[in-house]
Amino acid sequence: MNLLIMGKPGAGKGTLASIMQDNYHITHISTGNIFREEIAKQSPLGIAVESFITKGELVPDELTNNIVKSVLTQGHFPNGFMLDGYPRTKDQAIALDRILTELNMPLNFVVDIEVDDEVLLKRITGRRVCSGCNTIYHISLHPSIKQDVCDVCGGILIQREDDKEESVRKRIQIYNQKTEPLLDYYRQKNLIVTLDGRFKREDVFEFVETKLGITHGNH
Ligand code: ADP
Ligand code: ZN
Repeated sequence: MNLLIMGKPGAGKGTLASIMQDNYHITHISTGNIFREEIAKQSPLGIAVESFITKGELVPDELTNNIVKSVLTQGHFPNGFMLDGYPRTKDQAIALDRILTELNMPLNFVVDIEVDDEVLLKRITGRRVCSGCNTIYHISLHPSIKQDVCDVCGGILIQREDDKEESVRKRIQIYNQKTEPLLDYYRQKNLIVTLDGRFKREDVFEFVETKLGITHGNH
């Protein structure tokens, strides 16, 4: 099962992907997480992308496409993959088509998570991420047991620089301009399935089983 997960910043793409990875063993590939890991290491790639990300701007297509190509080419995906946060522009969508054709790994579905704009800002500005394992929390909606400490690995929870309000507004605007039009592109290919962004864990299992037709989860 090969999927794209789409939705505005804060829609819950990472949350959905992590539930699905744990229960259906589909490999989660997040370009945002890849970039953040490279920034943390201060690798050449990390240094190249850092200023775009902090400002809430997109990383240039060519750089992003190359990363995704190398991850998809080198990885092993016994139960398929979920791309989260990629593609975000028409250029990226076309590059992805080319990569997947070459590798003979066609897409099965594009999951579009739908959320009202008012909900997004509240969600994102309260979001905290584990610096150790990338688990996502929210200060009021889904807090960790001990403040600022990850329940899973004991790592320190941080607020992403681009989760501050000004960057968030820019990210939503860029989404509307550059990424939203891709939904039409995938609609024409008949790949879109929608998920209500207010989903809970149990809703994910129901969604996966009824809309995607996967029945071998271990929840
Ligand atoms: P969100 O979906 O919540 O905005 P992500 O973690 O997917 O967050 O992405 C964080 C940032 O990483 C983006 O704002 C952008 O700067 C960069 N980024 C991630 N994926 C891409 C992509 N496909 N193309 C360009 N930039 C990207
Ligand atoms: Zn952790």
